[in-house]
Amino acid sequence: MRALVTGGAGFIGSHLCEFLLKNGWQVVCLDNFITGRPSNVSQLQNNPGFMFTEQDAIKRVDVSGSVDYVFHLASPASPVDYLTFPVQTLEAGAMGTRNALELAKDKKAVLLLASTSEVYGDPLVHPQKEEYWGNVNPVGLRSVYDEAKRFAEALTTEYGRSQGVSIRIARIFNTFGTRMRLNDGRVVPNFIYQALNNEPITVYGDGSQTRSFCYVDDLVQGLYKLALSDFREPVNLGNPVEMSVLNFAKLIIKITGSRSEIIYRPLPADDPRQRQPDITKAKNILQWEPKIGIEDGLARTIAWFKMHMKPGGAGPLTKESVIEALRDVTDPELGISVVDLELIKDVEIQKQEKGELVKIKMTLTTPNCPLLGYMVQSVKERIEGIPGVVSADVELIF
Ligand code: UDP
Repeated sequence: MRALVTGGAGFIGSHLCEFLLKNGWQVVCLDNFITGRPSNVSQLQNNPGFMFTEQDAIKRVDVSGSVDYVFHLASPASPVDYLTFPVQTLEAGAMGTRNALELAKDKKAVLLLASTSEVYGDPLVHPQKEEYWGNVNPVGLRSVYDEAKRFAEALTTEYGRSQGVSIRIARIFNTFGTRMRLNDGRVVPNFIYQALNNEPITVYGDGSQTRSFCYVDDLVQGLYKLALSDFREPVNLGNPVEMSVLNFAKLIIKITGSRSEIIYRPLPADDPRQRQPDITKAKNILQWEPKIGIEDGLARTIAWFKMHMKPGGAGPLTKESVIEALRDVTDPELGISVVDLELIKDVEIQKQEKGELVKIKMTLTTPNCPLLGYMVQSVKERIEGIPGVVSADVELIF
C-alpha cells in the first residue's frame, strides 16, 4: 500500500507516517512546515519506504506514482496556531481539502479527512454523538478552524456522493503525546512545560471546562482502522474519559512532582465548556477504543518533553547563547553545523510580554536550495526549544 499523508510532519501526521511504515506501507509525507517540523520526520528519512515532499496543500497536492490512501491532515490545529494563521487555516480546510480530494479522485485512492470535535463547537449535547450538528459561532474567533473543518466535511462528503471518491471522516478529539510543540499553546504542552520549570500553571477561566484526552498512539490506531473500514460517515475518535481543566492541572503537578502553583487567566472567547466523545460507533464499527490511560500517556509525554527542553546555554539568553544552541543544527547534505558554515549573520533578541522573540538573519548561498524550508524550520525549532523563547523569526538574505 502507498499512502500520502498531508501534514505528515505535524504532531499526529508524523506518528501516522511512522505507524504506516512499521506496517509495511510506503509513505509520501507532504508538509509546508507552517506548523509541522522537520525533526518530527527526520528519523524516517533513511527508511526506503519514506519520501518527503515540501508542498503547500493550499496551492497544490502533486504526487507522482500510485497512491492508495490519502490521509488529509494538513491544517494548523491548535487554537494558538489557527489564530496566528487564520486565513491559511480557512484555506487549508477549503483549497487544501479540494486539492487532496482531486488527487484522491485522479489516483482512485481512499481519502480520510482529519476532522475535529470542533465541528460540535460549544456543544449543547453531552457527550457528543456523530448525529449532533453542533453549536458553532460562525463569526467567532475559533470559526476559522471550526467552519473550515465543517466545510471540509461537506466538501469531502460531496466528493463521496458525486465524484466517486471513497471517503472517510475522522472527528478527532483532544489528542496528546510526544512531538507536540512546546509552544503550540495547547493545554498539554503548556502545563507540562510550566510544571517542569516550577512556573505557575495558567488555568484559563475557573478550570471547570472539561476535555477528554487521547494518547496519540491510540488515535493513530483509530485512523488506520477507519481508513481500512468501508464506513463513509463521520466517526468520533477520542478518549471518553472526561476531566476538568483544573483537575488536569492538578494531575500534571502530581505526576511531575512540581512545586508550581495554579494561577487563573481569562477564558478565551468561545472556549467550549464541555467536550467528551461518544465513541459507540468507533467501538462497534471499527472495534476500536483507546487502551492507553491518561497517566500512562502523560508519563510518556513528560519523559519526552524532559529530553527535548534543551537549554540555550548557561545564564540569560544572549546572542552568543543563541549561536551556541544553533551548533546542533546541521545542513543535512553536508553534515556541517549552520554556525560553522557561517550562515548565521545576525541575531537580535527582543523582550516581549510572554518571553523573548529572537530574530535571526541567515544567508543561504543558493536561493533555490531544495532544503530551504527544512533548514529555516530547523533553525526556528531549535531556537523555540530554548526555555523563555516564545518565537523565532528567520529572515533570509541571499
Ligand atoms: N487551557 C488552559 N490553560 C492553558 C491552555 C489551555 O486552561 O495554558 C484550557 C483552554 O482554555 C481549554 C482547554 O484548556 O479550555 C483545552 O485547550 P487546548 O488549547 O488544548 O485545546 P481546545 O480543546 O480548546 O481546542
